[in-house]
Amino acid sequence: MKRILVTGGAGFLGSHLCERLLNDGHEVISLDNYFTGQKRNIVHLMDNRYFEVIRHDVTMPFFIEVDEIYNLACPASPVHYQYNGIKTVKTSVMGAINMLGLAKRIKAKVLQSSTSEVYGDPQVHPQTESYWGHVNPIGIRSCYDEGKRVAETLFMNYHHQNDVRIKIIRIFNTYGPRMHPNDGRVVSNFIIQALKNQNITIFGDGSQTRSFQYVDDLVNGMIKMMATGDDFVGPVNIGNPGEFTIKELAENIIEMTGSKSKLEFHPLPSDDPLQRKPDITLAKEKLNWEPAINLEEGLSKTITFFDKLLKENG
Ligand code: NAD
Ligand code: UDP
Repeated sequence: MKRILVTGGAGFLGSHLCERLLNDGHEVISLDNYFTGQKRNIVHLMDNRYFEVIRHDVTMPFFIEVDEIYNLACPASPVHYQYNGIKTVKTSVMGAINMLGLAKRIKAKVLQSSTSEVYGDPQVHPQTESYWGHVNPIGIRSCYDEGKRVAETLFMNYHHQNDVRIKIIRIFNTYGPRMHPNDGRVVSNFIIQALKNQNITIFGDGSQTRSFQYVDDLVNGMIKMMATGDDFVGPVNIGNPGEFTIKELAENIIEMTGSKSKLEFHPLPSDDPLQRKPDITLAKEKLNWEPAINLEEGLSKTITFFDKLLKENG
C-alpha cells in the first residue's frame, strides 16, 4: 500500500484517478481548491477510511509525507482557464514548483499531467513527443499552453539538477462521466445540447479535428507511467489516436441520442488548433499501453451520465 497525493483530486480526471488508486488498495489524499472541481465528484469515496480530502491551493507551499504525487491541479477547459489567465499561469508554474519542492524534500515520485496543448496548433501530424510545438505565446490560450510548457521545463530541471524522480505525460482530449456540465468542452456541450434537443454549437466549419480518449484509458496510462523505472521520465503522449472532425462528433452524438438537434455554426475562437492526433508509439513501447475504449462505447457511457444528471436536476 502506497500513500499517494492527487492534486486536483476533486476534478473530472482527479476524481477518477483517486477512485482507481483506492480500488487498487492505496491510501489517497485529494488536494483541491474547488475552482473547477466539485465535492460531488468524490463524495462517494468519503466512506473509505483510506481517503482524505484537503482544501488547499497549489500556488501555496504544502507539506505532507507521501510516496507518490500526481499533479493534476489546473483548470483544463478553455472557458475555465481563460476566466483568470494570471491565476492559470500561477497554478501551473507555482503549483509545479511547490509539488517538485515537496517531492525533492520527501523523495517522492511526481507525475505531471501535461497536455497536447504544448504542441499548440500543430504543424506536424500526428504529434510525436519530439515535436516542439507551434504555440502563440500571447494568445488567449497561452496562459494554459505556456504555463504547462514552463511546468515541463521545471520538471526536467528539478530532475537533472536535484535528481527528483519525475514523470511527464501529455494528455490528449479526454472525456467521460463527471466532466463539469458547464465547462464548455466540446463533448459535454454537444451531449447536453443533444439531450435537450437544442442546437449544437459548432465553432468554425467543424472541419477541425480532435482525438477523444475515454477517461478509464487515461487513468490506466497514468498508473502505468508512474510504475515505470526511474530512468524513463517522458514526456509521453497519452491519447486515443482515433481522429474525428468536430462535425463528425456532433453527428455521432445526435444519432446516438436520437436527438432532434440541428447544427448551428459560430465563429472559430482564435488559436483554436485545426488538427490534433497523438502518435502513441512511445507509450506502446515504454508502458505497454494503448487505449481500449472506442469513441462509440465511451460516448455511450458519457451520454448515460449526463442523461441521469439532467433528470436529477430537472
Ligand atoms: P478539471 O478542471 O475538472 O480539474 C482540475 C482540478 O484542479 C479541479 O478540481 C480544480 O478545482 C483544481 N484546481 C484548479 N486550480 C487549483 C489550484 N490553484 N489549487 C488546487 N486545486 C486547483 O480538469 P481535468 O479535465 O480533470 O484536468 C485535470 C488535469 O489534466 C489538468 O492539469 C489538465 O491540464 C490536464 N489535462 C486534461 C485534459 C482533458 O482533456 N481533460 C487534457 C490535457 C490535460
Ligand atoms: N467546440 C465546438 N463547439 C463547442 C465547444 C467546442 O465546436 O460548443 C470546438 C472547439 O472550437 C475546438 C474543439 O471543439 O475546436 C474542442 O474544444 P474543447 O474546448 O473541448 O477542447 P480543446 O480546444 O482544448 O481541444
